Amino acid sequence: MKFGIHLSVFTENWADDLEQYILKSKEIGYDGVEIPLMDPFGLDIKRLIKILEDNQILCTCGTGLSDQTDISSEDLVVRRNGINHLKKCIDICQQLSCDVLGGVLYSPWGKLYSRKDSEVRIECAIECLQEVGLYAKEKGVILALESINRYETYMLNTIQDGLDFIKRVGSEYVKIHFDTYHGNIEEKSIPDAIRSAKGEIYHVHFSENDRGIPGSGSIQWTKIKDALIDINYDRWVVLECFVKPDCETGTGTNTWRKIEVNADKTAQEGLKFMKDLFGLDHQLTKEQCKELLKRISRMFDERQDELSMYDSVIGDGDHGITMAKGAKAAIDKINQTENFEASELFKLYGKTLISTLGGAIGPLYGSIFIELSLVMKNKINVGLVEFATGFDQALNKVIELGGAKPGDKTMVDSMVPTVYSLLQAVAEQKNIVQAFEEAKANAIIGAYNTIPMIAKRGRSRYLQEKAIGYQDAGATSFAYMIEQIYIYLLEVSQ
Ligand SMILES: [Mg+2]
Repeated sequence: MKFGIHLSVFTENWADDLEQYILKSKEIGYDGVEIPLMDPFGLDIKRLIKILEDNQILCTCGTGLSDQTDISSEDLVVRRNGINHLKKCIDICQQLSCDVLGGVLYSPWGKLYSRKDSEVRIECAIECLQEVGLYAKEKGVILALESINRYETYMLNTIQDGLDFIKRVGSEYVKIHFDTYHGNIEEKSIPDAIRSAKGEIYHVHFSENDRGIPGSGSIQWTKIKDALIDINYDRWVVLECFVKPDCETGTGTNTWRKIEVNADKTAQEGLKFMKDLFGLDHQLTKEQCKELLKRISRMFDERQDELSMYDSVIGDGDHGITMAKGAKAAIDKINQTENFEASELFKLYGKTLISTLGGAIGPLYGSIFIELSLVMKNKINVGLVEFATGFDQALNKVIELGGAKPGDKTMVDSMVPTVYSLLQAVAEQKNIVQAFEEAKANAIIGAYNTIPMIAKRGRSRYLQEKAIGYQDAGATSFAYMIEQIYIYLLEVSQ
C-alpha cells in the first residue's frame, strides 16, 4: 500500500505551480503525489520529472474532461479532442513513470442527462475508451474510471455502474477508481461495493463525507479498510480533500465554506489517519519479514549463554546453544532465498528449525513458525491479525504436540499470556506496536511466573519440586522472541 496526496489539497487554482506542494508532501511523509492533468498540453513535464526525481517522490495522475474534450459528445471533432487529451495524459503518465491515470475519464463533470435518453452518448464514450484503452496498453498505463455522485454526472455513480461500463469497454487497461466521498453518497454499502469489484479497483481516493480529513466525519473507515484488505488491494490510497472555499479548486468542487483549518493540517492529519487505519506503518512487507527473522536468529545467538544458564539449572543446559544453532541454520536458508513471500519465509524457517534442532524442542519451535506461515499464506503484507491468529494456532499446536498445559513449567506458560494479549489487541483494534509491547510484557511475566512452578514436562519434570525457584528456559526464550518482534516493529514504525 502506498499513500499519496492529491496536490489540489494545497492548490487554489488547477494550474498553480506544484513544486512547493510536492516538497511539502514529501516532507510530511507521503510516498507520492497525485498530479492533476487539467491542461496536459500546458505542463512543463521535464521540470516536473526533475522535481519528482530530486525529491525521490512517486506520483499518480488524474484528469477530467471539458465540453471541448468530451468523449461522450455526439460531435466527432469534440470526441477526437477528448481522445487526444486522454492520449496526451497517458504519454505524461509514462514520462513520469506513473502506471495509473484516474478520474472522470468518460464525460465532463456537471453534465447531467437522463441515462435512458443518453445511450448514444454512453456508446460514444465506450468507443473512444476502447481506442484510448489500446493506446494505454501500448504505454503500460491503466485508465481508472472514477464513479462520482449523481449531482456531478449521470453516467457512472456507483461501483456497479463502473463495472458494467468497463465490461462494455472490454479492455484490460480500463479499470475502476473508487472514491469514498462519492461512494458515501451513492452506495448502499461501501464495503459490499468494494468487495464486488475485486481485481477491478485500480485506484482509490480517500476523503471524509464532507470532503474533509478522513476520520473527522461519519464514514465507516474500518469497514472500508477491511473490504480493501479482503480484495487484496495493495495500490495507491490518495488523500483527496477539498477544504478551501473562494478559489478555483474550491469552486470547481462546490466547496462553499471552510471545511478544515487549513491544507497543511489536512495533509498531515490525513496521512496519519490513513497510516493508523491500515496499520501499514506497522505492517510488514516480505522484505521486513525476512529482516525480522534475521533479528530473531541474532537474538538467539546473543542470548544463548543466558538461555543455557536457565536450562543448566533444571535441564540439559543446552537450550541456548541448541536454539542458536537452529536459528543460524534457519537464517542461512532464508538468506539463500530471493523473492519469497512472507508465508514461504516463515515456513522455511520453521522447517529448518525442525530438521536442525531435533529432539522435542525442534517440532515445538518449528511448528510456531509453520503455523504463522499458514495464516500468512497469500498475504502481501502481514500485520497484527496474522501474528495474533498465527500464534494462537501455534499455541494449540504446541499443546497438541507436547501435551503441556499452562502451569506445567514450559514455553506454554509464556505463550498463553502472549496469545491472550494479542487477541485482545485485535479485538480492541490496537496497532501492532502497542499490541506487541503488551504481549512482550505479558510473555516476560509468563516466563517469570514459571519460577515457583513444579515441572511436569520436559527433562526438568524428573526434578519435580527441585525445579521450584528456577525460571523455565523454553518459556524465557519464547518471551525473548516476542520481545524481539516488538523491538523490530517499533523500529520500522518510527
Ligand atoms: Mg476523487
